[in-house]
Amino acid sequence: MTASVRRPAAQKSTGKPAAKTPAKPSAKPARKPAPPAPDWSLLPERIAALAARAVAGGAPSVETFAPATGAKLVDLPQSSKTDIDVAFDRARKAQQEWAARPLSERTAVFRRLHDLILREQSEILDVIQSETGKARSHAFEEVVDVAINCRYYARTAASVLKSHGRAGALPALTSAREVRHPKGVVVVISPWNYPLALSVSDALPALIAGNAVVSRPDNQTALTTLWAHELAQKAGLPKDIWQVVLGRGSNIGNDLIARADFVDYTGSTATGRSIATQAAERLVGCSLELGGKNAMLVLDDVNVGKAAEGAIRACFSSAGQLCESMERVYVHDNVYDEFVEQFLERVANMRLGARLDFGSDMGSLTFPRQLESVSAHVEDARAKGATVLAGGRARPDLGPYFYEPTVLGGVTPEMKVFAEETFGPVVSVYRVKSDDEAVELANATAYGLNASVWTRDTSRGQRIAKRLRAGAVNINEGYAAAWGSVDAPSGGVGDSGLGRRHGAEGILKYTYVQTIATQRLLPIAPLPGMSQETWAKTLTVALHVMRRVGLK
Ligand code: NAD
Repeated sequence: MTASVRRPAAQKSTGKPAAKTPAKPSAKPARKPAPPAPDWSLLPERIAALAARAVAGGAPSVETFAPATGAKLVDLPQSSKTDIDVAFDRARKAQQEWAARPLSERTAVFRRLHDLILREQSEILDVIQSETGKARSHAFEEVVDVAINCRYYARTAASVLKSHGRAGALPALTSAREVRHPKGVVVVISPWNYPLALSVSDALPALIAGNAVVSRPDNQTALTTLWAHELAQKAGLPKDIWQVVLGRGSNIGNDLIARADFVDYTGSTATGRSIATQAAERLVGCSLELGGKNAMLVLDDVNVGKAAEGAIRACFSSAGQLCESMERVYVHDNVYDEFVEQFLERVANMRLGARLDFGSDMGSLTFPRQLESVSAHVEDARAKGATVLAGGRARPDLGPYFYEPTVLGGVTPEMKVFAEETFGPVVSVYRVKSDDEAVELANATAYGLNASVWTRDTSRGQRIAKRLRAGAVNINEGYAAAWGSVDAPSGGVGDSGLGRRHGAEGILKYTYVQTIATQRLLPIAPLPGMSQETWAKTLTVALHVMRRVGLK
């Protein structure tokens, strides 16, 4: 077992003190003394060991803090250009040997990683919560994500990556095979909101396919990736095949893309566009998982209680800092009042708090800039006439960046929340008169990542799903059904991105395909002594015959 990363309860944090926490005005006098506040600071020696795993130190370090409390986490080393060179050199050397190993040896590493991550989940849950401020149940989703991706790709890689026979140019005389090769060194640039899932689950199919990976996690959540890096080595991953470098995207992004054979990026649409431009310049592929302004449709035949409960998960997981999160809910007029009443009742009962256990339903936002942008969206809507049906305020009494789950009504196109991604716990509800109107409004966005349809009639739900312009549509769930079905591809259309993770696409993108064709007995050319004209006539007859007998 890994040593615990959390300080024992008696130890005092030496980090920056948590923000002052004024008493909640409406709080009733407590009957029992409050339990001691959890210590969010992590063991310094453990943190130092994790930070040392990165190829970094050549550039000035940066400090990170636990969003839920403000406690200092780590002085994180940063990678210089030389560090990046070192990481790529090591990765390239290691890749040759790794790709030469039998696939079964590579997949065995990830079967072991599956078991290890489930066994050692409590430590990584502490790290994820410390770095992101999210509730433990939302951190647990990340552990599940890595486990199911390990299982899935370990199980399916052999059939997806194996070489396939293809119809040859001339039946019996030409045989063709399609062979998959790893691209080389894949760069994975991951954001801070789902730091375990988005750094590990995207790296693992690349590694299984025989690539080396250079990961650049966000500074705020680098310890999570480094923890997984340590665990992967315990599972048997060779030391140099997965390198981690550290730095702000704006500082080191160009140097990474300049050396990559493929770039896997998750983050905002604006950054995604610039990464795509740089990758195009080098003619290397990229996969871009970007933002969304996702819509939930509540149809008139719905089970209102289930939809209201589902909307809580769909809108407020990780405090809405989830690309798949629902920010718009279109509710049929017949059930609007009942849905809104039940939804608001559930929102009011949500438990907010900074707890290192499963006792809170929603945690903190991750950065001051998230708090600023969420507050700005809500204030803009309020100023332009929206009704705040629930929430609508920061909660400094709980932690520096807490914001209440917020429901807005009366939102109109001139408000920012109408079309811009908020990326926070803010959802707008709209009344619609028909399925057609709901579909039209849901599709009125440049994004196309995720959508959700709630109905008792799943066939009707599936018909509507096909009319929605989104990479995924969940029927009677917010995001977990499609996201967790890792046998099916996941990704966006329009401004939500290019390429797919999960499914066969999620591993094939890390390979290039080679065709090996073998000609036997006769050449694809006139026989000795045959004129070009006779050869052309013979081939014409052969083509007619091939079509008649139905050859490919
Ligand atoms: P962002 O684009 O500002 O930053 C995302 C990451 O990219 C950060 O770690 C940042 O350091 C890095 N980055 C920034 N500039 C870079 C550059 N030039 N080169 C390389 N890396 C660079 O986005 P953000 O606001 O921090 O993240 C939230 C956004 O990410 C939201 O729009 C959200 O929807 C999106 N997101 C999408 C998915 C998905 O799977 N589709 C998942 C999570 C987040």
